[in-house]
Amino acid sequence: MHSHKSRQLRAAKVERGLRADDGPLTQLQRTAGNAAVCKLMSSLHDRAPAESPEVLVVRAGTTAAQAPPGGMNAIQTNEAGSALGAAAGWTGIKMAGAFVSPNFTTTWIHPTKPGGDHFVTVDPPVASPDAVHDSFYPAAGDHKWGTGTVPGPGKKTYEAWHRVSDSMSAIIREGEQEHLDDAKRAYDLTYGLITTTIAGMAGQKFGPAKSPTEAEQLATDAFDAKLPAALSVKKPAYRAAWLQLLETLLKQSKLRDLRGWHDLQHAKPLTKGDRYIYPLEPTNTTNIRKPGDKSIEVVNYPDPTP
Ligand SMILES: [Zn+2]
Repeated sequence: MHSHKSRQLRAAKVERGLRADDGPLTQLQRTAGNAAVCKLMSSLHDRAPAESPEVLVVRAGTTAAQAPPGGMNAIQTNEAGSALGAAAGWTGIKMAGAFVSPNFTTTWIHPTKPGGDHFVTVDPPVASPDAVHDSFYPAAGDHKWGTGTVPGPGKKTYEAWHRVSDSMSAIIREGEQEHLDDAKRAYDLTYGLITTTIAGMAGQKFGPAKSPTEAEQLATDAFDAKLPAALSVKKPAYRAAWLQLLETLLKQSKLRDLRGWHDLQHAKPLTKGDRYIYPLEPTNTTNIRKPGDKSIEVVNYPDPTP
């Protein structure tokens, strides 16, 4: 999932691992002391998440299953420069610069005689398809997390594993799909809408006017009238504003993580031989399954500035 959640998971696990009534790690603590426990924990956790500037790291195309036992680690390699023990799923939403900016252009029709009226026709839109975003979730099963060695004479090595149940795998998948759906809505509300609007006007003739500029203005005014205010072309550098708006809407998907809706935590660990197995479970803020068009909840035009 996203780094915010990763930290949440990490905090939950460290706290739990050091608690007095918590089973296997308490056993380790008794036999090897606090240092051993801390060492195990830090070897698994102390790698800071890094944000890539080009990619919004949240979870959003179609999300792909990653099989155990290596799936979770494979997912975590997507977290730039880190291998967090907690990113259960991952989606990299491309930023607005990765999309092809639409453009509204017209073609001038020469007057048939000198001093005659000017007309323009609207050109077809450039191809400005939605982006494809990478997205992964862990398939059900036990995913290897890492190993830790207890210092001292024994040098015993322990393995830590994540346990992903069928239902948790489905929840994580759905959470990643929410981000992908959000990203699609961000595109649909911006470049997608602009492109279909231009396509609907392609070939339409505007005029008569006294000059090519005036004829083009007629076409631009008609285009503007079809667009929502947030996409208005009545200001200079409106294409830059379109790009900025797409970027803003893409980023809105992060609200899901910021609100804790995608948080997960580790339940009390189980032991199996030398393994500590940490089942993933929802927290009290996890909010992934909701009916309806979920992306309307988080992806919308910002309120106009007064
Ligand atoms: Zn998320």
